[in-house]
Amino acid sequence: MWQYFCYEPSVDRSSCQVPDCGSSLKGKNATNMLTHLKSKHKNIAEEIAAAEQQRKLKDKTSGNQQHLSDMVRNMTSLCM
Ligand SMILES: [Zn+2]
Repeated sequence: MWQYFCYEPSVDRSSCQVPDCGSSLKGKNATNMLTHLKSKHKNIAEEIAAAEQQRKLKDKTSGNQQHLSDMVRNMTSLCM
């Protein structure tokens, strides 16, 4: 659903999948991805924030750490 990044293990980089962006970020870091989305693709960052808000209301038991790793899993896919 949020596969906005494509992770390339061989170079340890995640490339942004938004058309015409072409940016790639080092590693698989949710914070960096969110920072990128917030600065370059504000509409997408807002969608994610809204979806997270819904999730938090549903699941109050998960800690922040878990929440961030879930976010990375949801946002990235392996490059084909
Ligand atoms: Zn981008």
